[in-house]
Amino acid sequence: INILLLGSGGREDALGQGLRQSPSCGELFAAPGNPGIARWAECLAIDPADPDKVVAAAQERNIGLVVVGPEAPLVAGVADACRKVGIPVFGPSAAAAMLEGSKGFTKDLCAAEGIPTARFVRLADTEAALDGLNDFGLPVVIKADGLAAGKGVTVAMTRDEAEEAVRALGGAPLVIEEFLEGEEASLFALVDGSKAIALASAQDHKRVGEGDTGPNTGGMGAYSPAPVLTPELEARAMAEIVMPTAIAMARAGTPFSGVLYAGLMLTAEGPKLIEYNVRFGDPECEGIVPRLKGDLAALLLSVAQGRLGEVQPELSAQHSMTVIIAAEGYPGTPRKGGLIDGIEAAERVPGVTVFHAGTARHGSGALLSAAGRVLAVTALGDTLAEARARAYQGVDAIEFADGFHRRDIGWRELERTR
Ligand code: ATP
Repeated sequence: INILLLGSGGREDALGQGLRQSPSCGELFAAPGNPGIARWAECLAIDPADPDKVVAAAQERNIGLVVVGPEAPLVAGVADACRKVGIPVFGPSAAAAMLEGSKGFTKDLCAAEGIPTARFVRLADTEAALDGLNDFGLPVVIKADGLAAGKGVTVAMTRDEAEEAVRALGGAPLVIEEFLEGEEASLFALVDGSKAIALASAQDHKRVGEGDTGPNTGGMGAYSPAPVLTPELEARAMAEIVMPTAIAMARAGTPFSGVLYAGLMLTAEGPKLIEYNVRFGDPECEGIVPRLKGDLAALLLSVAQGRLGEVQPELSAQHSMTVIIAAEGYPGTPRKGGLIDGIEAAERVPGVTVFHAGTARHGSGALLSAAGRVLAVTALGDTLAEARARAYQGVDAIEFADGFHRRDIGWRELERTR
């Protein structure tokens, strides 16, 4: 089958490689793609969040599967538009994408289904929210009730900080919730209506600085699996969180289809849901796809066609680590246009692949930085320590004067195993 992949980041570069290596993949197109994705796919200059344009491009090229990388096309209804004309699509409808788009929606669903999550209230304005703070201790968590690109959450240590966070939202709807103590881990599950299977676990590093300090980013690195999410805890998270969510969405007439990414807090009482995303995480995806054995295209198509389970995901026992190389200034205003070299040298390190997150090809053929997160260096290894050593050997082979990265990806897990 011919496949159209939507997106332009490191996540889509990894998906592109996985699809290209799939025996069942015919021609592969990407919209809009990037210079890394161009290794695997023909890139089309099309807005991936424009449903009409995506459908037209897919019909023109006899596409048998559309794979949606980021959330924006999903929220814009691209998956709905494809399904309407009979094109199988890996990714949920706009209605099911509400699991990511509205924190309030997800919290209400948790309450209705008895899904373990932090105690919460949804409030409509500043006055109600200031009053609502009285029902919570400290620390307390304040979240905007909409897509805020990771910038709508405050963990307030003091009452003053909490009130400031409430006021900063300017009267917009918000969620106040109890602070959960524990370690965070991510669980990726394939969901098709009321069926779900666990795919992989991962842990990421959101803060820009070493030791998990400084402002939040889209993610500075990740590793998979996350051994803290033991098989027992994973089974509990599937049974207590993911399955009841899938069943409730199907019952409501808005079945979920695609990958459901559960952000979990592993508390003393067991896994609790912090948030859902309705697509692969970036950079987690760059570490999960290389661990998948077998035909990725066939696996994603089975989900898209409502045949989940007919193609079983096969995960290698190897560990992966992904280190993000970002441009100076990120997560503020990144410096763009910096010259990048050494990718081939990095990929000569055993087990290393360099995915393009934000690059552009200059007319001269030179590779330049074009966004905050520039490259994702992934390595596989028999242990996390081996994956780490290889990933940093790859990172060190790259020449990019405007770049920076964290040297401590995986520190928590490596400390535990040392
Ligand atoms: P992103 O999608 O970038 O992770 P987001 O804006 O969707 O962020 P959440 O994932 O809900 O927001 O929260 C961001 C982070 O805040 C979490 O990863 C977690 O570290 C912390 N956090 C959120 N809710 C809680 C909670 N109830 N208790 C403790 N920490 C929390």
